[in-house]
Amino acid sequence: MIRDFLKKRPVYQKTQEQEKEPEIPAGLWKKCNKCGAAIYTEDVIKGHYICPKCKGYFRMHARRRIEMITDEGSFEEWDVEMPESNPLHFPGYEKKLAEVNQKTNLNEAIITGKAAIDGKTVVLGVMDARFFMGSMGYNVGEKVANAIERAIEQKLPVILFTCAGGARMQEGIVSLMQMAKTSAVLKRHSDAGLLSITVLTDPTTGGVTASFAMLGDVILSEPGTLIGFAGPRVIEQTIHQKLPEGFQRAEFLLKHGFLDAVVSREKMKETLSQILMLHESKEVCPLPEGKMDVKKKGITKMSAWDRVLISRMPERPTGLDYIERIFTDFIEFHGDRCFGDDHAIVGGIARFQGVPVTVIAQQKGKNTKDNIDRNFGMPFPEGYRKALRLMKQAEKFHRPIICFVDTPGAFCGIEAEERGQGEAIARNLYEMSALKVPVLSIFIGEGGSGGALAMAVADEVWMMENAIYSVLSPEGFASILWKDAKKAADAAKVMKITAADLKKLNIIDYVIREEHPATVETMEPICEDMSEQIQRFLTVYGSKEGSELAAHRYDRFRNM
Ligand SMILES: [Zn+2]
Repeated sequence: MIRDFLKKRPVYQKTQEQEKEPEIPAGLWKKCNKCGAAIYTEDVIKGHYICPKCKGYFRMHARRRIEMITDEGSFEEWDVEMPESNPLHFPGYEKKLAEVNQKTNLNEAIITGKAAIDGKTVVLGVMDARFFMGSMGYNVGEKVANAIERAIEQKLPVILFTCAGGARMQEGIVSLMQMAKTSAVLKRHSDAGLLSITVLTDPTTGGVTASFAMLGDVILSEPGTLIGFAGPRVIEQTIHQKLPEGFQRAEFLLKHGFLDAVVSREKMKETLSQILMLHESKEVCPLPEGKMDVKKKGITKMSAWDRVLISRMPERPTGLDYIERIFTDFIEFHGDRCFGDDHAIVGGIARFQGVPVTVIAQQKGKNTKDNIDRNFGMPFPEGYRKALRLMKQAEKFHRPIICFVDTPGAFCGIEAEERGQGEAIARNLYEMSALKVPVLSIFIGEGGSGGALAMAVADEVWMMENAIYSVLSPEGFASILWKDAKKAADAAKVMKITAADLKKLNIIDYVIREEHPATVETMEPICEDMSEQIQRFLTVYGSKEGSELAAHRYDRFRNM
């Protein structure tokens, strides 16, 4: 029986009887079981196993998935032979395993091995729902753990495609232990400074969700994927309520902060390749001669209040405008892995002149609709927690961090307090003070109080000539001190909130000249200046040890 179990067999394709997901039709023409359209099988296979009519995703066999995302012929399978596992001597289990093996030509619910994606070597694990619904028993846990341990030895990133129904019932408690085993080995992989990416495909539930699926440095999902710990039927039966539309789908998890991105099947290889590229070994930032000094430049004469008004102008370039112009290959990551994805803060990885950096920006909208989505640039606690998550990730991968600050302040409201606005800001100040990578903060518009500082505990802080930075809005200051909000202009003057004032006070290090108040049309020379200075910053701070950077930041704020 064991030999039967291990024997290689030709690939076996058969439509499954389970679930209502579309399945790959066997004949030349078949009906899509999602939309009912007659479709040509060849079109489905060529079209990433997506129904050409309704765009529904067919479940994919693990081997087809490997072909789709790896370089041709690069896959080397590991653990091709796994000893049969029946730890509880469950009656009839071995017979069933042999049957499934024969049907699927799989020795377990996951295939592991090494492959190349656009030339970059990775360790890969791809689950297959045809094998006991992708449930995780001893052998799945063992194959995952073996693969990740080999990745640690060979210093390779790991990509795991999940597709799982839960624990392998026939293996009882041993199945449960696989959750701890796979999580522990991923922790070691992470502590070794290596990258893991998980890609959640339909369905990812139960023990796999509550272990390796949710532990990737980057977590991606295919659209519409069912993702949850408890399955929807179990929840419905427990709470006796109908679940809302879209509950536990990928888009729901993205909104709630648990996914970095939802990526279509057509874009999956390209996206994985980009993420891998951004994590390749660190390159040295080239520096042209004679650009080491901070330039000294004249500043236009203007009242503090005028600068306040300019800093709030809707035409002013936003964080994303700078990211687009100064960096390349930006990939946005979402979510705080806890509650939500705050659109008032955007962040991700990009390249600055070839060097991978983490960029995080407080983001205002361009119009009313956009501004409502971005909460007028006023972050919730989950925004700060997302920013911190990305900063810690940058630290792990030795990437410098560049923050763009532009907020009237942290959002003031009931939900923000419920979720711990104060705690979130405090945590950022605390953690940022000791980050072991270079941190730069650039104020591009409004710098409102703690909400701005939570992204500005940096090695250097720069301000645009018409940006402001203050403990409170001038209106708030005037109404508290003078009981008259109309005296905001006077307040602006005495508060010392302009770039020039703050440079004199040594609160900031550099002022970026604005010959004319910045707009998207006039920002080219500003971006040039910024780029030149970022290059200087990265050269100076990029050569320092992590502990030296943290000590420098400590001293900087210790002296405030
Ligand atoms: Zn269809």
